[in-house]
Amino acid sequence: MSTHDYLRQRFFPHMWCPGCGHGTVLNSLLRAVEQLGMSKNEIVMASGIGCSSRISGYVDFHTLHTLHGRALAFATGVKLSKPELNVIVPMGDGDALAIGGNHFIHACRRNIDITAIVMNNRIYGMTGGQFSPMSGVGINATTAPFSNIDREFDVVKMATAAGATFVARSTTFHAQQATDLIKQAILHEGFSVVEILSQCPTHFGRKNKLGAAADMMQHYKDITVPIGSSKKKDNPDLIERGIFVQEEAPEYCREYDKIIEQAMKG
Ligand code: SF4
Repeated sequence: MSTHDYLRQRFFPHMWCPGCGHGTVLNSLLRAVEQLGMSKNEIVMASGIGCSSRISGYVDFHTLHTLHGRALAFATGVKLSKPELNVIVPMGDGDALAIGGNHFIHACRRNIDITAIVMNNRIYGMTGGQFSPMSGVGINATTAPFSNIDREFDVVKMATAAGATFVARSTTFHAQQATDLIKQAILHEGFSVVEILSQCPTHFGRKNKLGAAADMMQHYKDITVPIGSSKKKDNPDLIERGIFVQEEAPEYCREYDKIIEQAMKG
């Protein structure tokens, strides 16, 4: 199988703006499943609503394009009924940590074997550039024309605190690293979270005068360092990339099967 074989080419050209980071994330995802030698039939993708969630239309897996913020709830149902399938959930800011925030922390807590890819562009792109829980203080958005005063979530810290057993971060500039992290997340048995900083040049970039898509990707290179880099000591604002959490813990579907066995014995 080549990466093209995993695509529904009849739905191209895609709807993303030129330079949108989500195409790069799709590329990293396809390379990950190709390198793992996965069959299309063993993957289920459930997504919510937003530019990032449109990925589920372009991949030729079993796909569900569901409600805003509810992708993890649908994915949990799929995984419990068909635990042998690999379930992947691409999410944007809102799906993961605004309307979907409760689903996110409880999926982390349960440690169900689902791979969540959080495509963090710090804005609601599809609906016109409103600020999101990831935007951060001082950011301009259509709903914050005089700058945003809300502090942002840290996806890695949130997922770690909620109990996810695999937590990682990369960016669209570091596409090969993103591929590797997605591969490891898919192989991990438990709830895995991969945050990928993904540029929205149309709204976030334009509102905040960050230049073209290539400039925004260069910015990701400049503001991130590998975990443990000595540069972080000199500049605490640098954002770390890599694997933050990778640990074994009882997986939810397996634990649920044990309960069913007990119940069957009476
Ligand atoms: S609005 Fe932003 S996030 Fe949406 S497709 Fe365009 S660049 Fe990408």
